[in-house]
Amino acid sequence: MSRETPPAWSKRSLAAQAMGHIDPLTKAVVPPIHLASTYIRDPDNQYSSGYCYGRPDNATVREAEAVLAMLEEAPAGALLFGSGMAAATAVFGALDPGDHVVAPTVMYWALRRWLGQEATRWGLKVDFVATDDLNALRAAVIPGKTKLVWLETPANPLWTITDIAAAAEIAHAAGARLAVDSTAASPVVTRPLALGADVVMHSATKVLNGHSDVIAGVLAGARIDAFWARIQSVRSSQGAILGPFEAYLLLRGLRTLHLRIAAQMAGAAALAERFAAHPYVLAVLYPGLPEHPGHAVAARQMEGGFGTMLSIRVKGGEAAAIGTAARVALWKRATSLGGVESLIEHRASVEGPGTPCPPDLLRLSTGIEDPDDLFADLDAALRGAA
Ligand SMILES: *Cc1c(COP(=O)(O)O)cnc(C)c1O
Repeated sequence: MSRETPPAWSKRSLAAQAMGHIDPLTKAVVPPIHLASTYIRDPDNQYSSGYCYGRPDNATVREAEAVLAMLEEAPAGALLFGSGMAAATAVFGALDPGDHVVAPTVMYWALRRWLGQEATRWGLKVDFVATDDLNALRAAVIPGKTKLVWLETPANPLWTITDIAAAAEIAHAAGARLAVDSTAASPVVTRPLALGADVVMHSATKVLNGHSDVIAGVLAGARIDAFWARIQSVRSSQGAILGPFEAYLLLRGLRTLHLRIAAQMAGAAALAERFAAHPYVLAVLYPGLPEHPGHAVAARQMEGGFGTMLSIRVKGGEAAAIGTAARVALWKRATSLGGVESLIEHRASVEGPGTPCPPDLLRLSTGIEDPDDLFADLDAALRGAA
């Protein structure tokens, strides 16, 4: 059966079936994993299948990329990388020496460190600014010199919100591109490309895969142009493509993305509300709370929820925070986020000197467990129960 126009199935339906692709050889509803590193050349010297070698391209990787491009509604498509860091650094790698870059003061710490220490060695000039303050962002962007504005929203670990549409206007007016690390939002909740971004990046290690068993990163592009081609060339020449087995696991995870994220966001919202009224909690950082400084912008640019992440500041300072994390049982003391199991982390210990993260902060990644159990476990830990 063929159709003139594809039916208007929702993204949730398309993701659940991984775009409905059926293996033509076997009619399998789950695609095979294409492990080959090389492909037969045709007698006429062409590669009619479109594949020639595993470093530039892979069919299993393409399957996962198709779902991600659909979720982001990305005209240029999506590119998968071996990690979120590989995806992010490919964007900066597509710039030229001397280019000026503006990045947020509150952002994923490993990328902030790379921008401060490594990117400058490649000749990039990097300025960090509080991007949630649009006047500060406007002042930091240098017309003609700034080639890229990098945002992260909500941003680790304070869940700072930046207005993507307003930042896109500021960047574009100066002749710069806008890239958004949308890991904490996910494509279910925010679509930066529709808000004016040129490139969106995710650590697919997090909620996209959702099961804490893959390291992966993805970029989705607003248009196929010279910059996108350069990003593609960076991935291919630096060998940063995701492996086929990881792509398969990610494809499997994406099938349940909408269900997982709905449950995780509902849990995060319930926990934020309950911990906001907790006698041992100084503050809850969660964009869904009206008192969060980014709440109004978040309510506008996030759809259906405020993400799966929140942080709490524990009364009693750093020792009380570390002590609380030591006493949990259901929450797992580990880094990373977005998985089905809830994680707790004393973030300042990870980020080290120079971090904007307060020492009394615990970062909470809400999984799919019963929110009542999650509350009771952390409540007991806050109260010092052994
Ligand atoms: C984890 C993370 C990254 C880095 O991704 P990796 O897959 O660990 O390389 C980048 N940005 C954010 C917001 C993250 O949470």
